[in-house]
Amino acid sequence: MTQIIDNANGLNEFGALLDQAREYAGAYINAANDQSLNPGAAALARLSEFDIPLPDGPTDASEMLAQLHDIGSPTTLPSTGGRYFGFVNGGAHPPALAAKWLSDIWDQNAAFYVMSPIAAKLEDVCERWIVELLGLPKHTVAGFVGGTSPAIAAGLVTARNELLTKQGWDVVTRGLFGAPQIRVVVGAQAHGAVYKALSYIGLGRDRVEIVPADDQGRMIAEKMPKLDAHTLVVAQAGDVNSGAFDPLDAICDKAQKAGAWVHVDGALGLWAGASKNKRGLLRGFEKADSWAVDAHKTLNAPYDCGIILCRHPEKLAAAMQASGSYLQRTDGERDGMYYVPEMSRRARATELWALLKTMGRSGVEELVDQLCERAESLAEGLKARGFQIKNHVVFNQVLVACETPKLTRATLANIQQGGEIWCGGATWHDQPVIRASICSWATTQADIERAIQAFCAARERAKNQ
Ligand SMILES: *Cc1c(COP(=O)(O)O)cnc(C)c1O
Repeated sequence: MTQIIDNANGLNEFGALLDQAREYAGAYINAANDQSLNPGAAALARLSEFDIPLPDGPTDASEMLAQLHDIGSPTTLPSTGGRYFGFVNGGAHPPALAAKWLSDIWDQNAAFYVMSPIAAKLEDVCERWIVELLGLPKHTVAGFVGGTSPAIAAGLVTARNELLTKQGWDVVTRGLFGAPQIRVVVGAQAHGAVYKALSYIGLGRDRVEIVPADDQGRMIAEKMPKLDAHTLVVAQAGDVNSGAFDPLDAICDKAQKAGAWVHVDGALGLWAGASKNKRGLLRGFEKADSWAVDAHKTLNAPYDCGIILCRHPEKLAAAMQASGSYLQRTDGERDGMYYVPEMSRRARATELWALLKTMGRSGVEELVDQLCERAESLAEGLKARGFQIKNHVVFNQVLVACETPKLTRATLANIQQGGEIWCGGATWHDQPVIRASICSWATTQADIERAIQAFCAARERAKNQ
């Protein structure tokens, strides 16, 4: 086999490559805040340079890195800067990113303690810290996954297994064919990731019972169907559009009385638990059975970092291991794979630990509060300039419209084309809206002022088009 790195001189060559990557990263990060959020046709056209047949033989590694930087860096959407407001894409907290770099060099497999004592330790610590930070029940366990989508799937599979076990059906061994029925109750604004999970865990997208939502997208608890001990309720903390929180207290009370399982999709909103100002939005959430949350959104961990939290450790472990039994620890140490769908996994708790360690409780609170304050400030500034704000800005999401749907669409197109900021679009109550998610630690008040100017300029241009 070809030696990519010459053994004798390996460290030096490897070091030189890392230095080269470091140099590009420095250049990128320096430019990211000024880089246009529209890569432009010329930069995009160069992506076709990647369309070559698989090389017959080796390419020089330094040349490869140079190509990646020269063509790749300009065609990123610089979401690490302060003016990217698309989807709900968090920024990347620098200390967490630095820790991730080191852990990439470690290249640990976080499946078992024996494969990586440090990865196991950091998962344990993160679990403890997050349970404490959010005020979750004492024995809640955490599984560290790639994002909220797999976290939701892990929570819903655990719920499914438990609801069937209670009816005397071991779905792990017998499968779903011929199984007793279980019911699934979701809010009208449930995220697509919930439907995706329902579809691939065999519960079906179309047989859910949908609870109507109010004008903010919150499930109306009084309109929930009668629950029973065969029901899974999926509630939401932080709507992906409006940022609204379902009335979790009322939902959990009804479910507890009936013996139903409540899973909370808290992708962006669960971190409200870290803020005294925002914690009220989550009232009663600790009564749920499982929670899914992203660290790569509101918390600003680098991608890919999601967490499944479950108050019944043995049920999550049994579902993830398809074993029906609780295999928890080797000699009292944590084996991370018991709480997640994967076996081999990168040690993603490293950057989560780094983030929580460097921010501390007060830093996380400040971050959450800052995102929410900037969102309010954007909403107020836009309202003062004649834009309509279509949601109550309770968290970090702002839904914006112009006088007419046509003007809204044209304004959004101009915003995206302009490159000063980046926002996505959504449909809200059957009307187009521009969605701004304030989700990066890097967004300053000056960025908000620039965003307001960019909205005004884009609308002005749309009016003259
Ligand atoms: C983003 C989001 C998801 C999906 O999370 P990923 O990390 O992208 O998998 C699910 N639910 C809500 C409410 C979200 O905002």
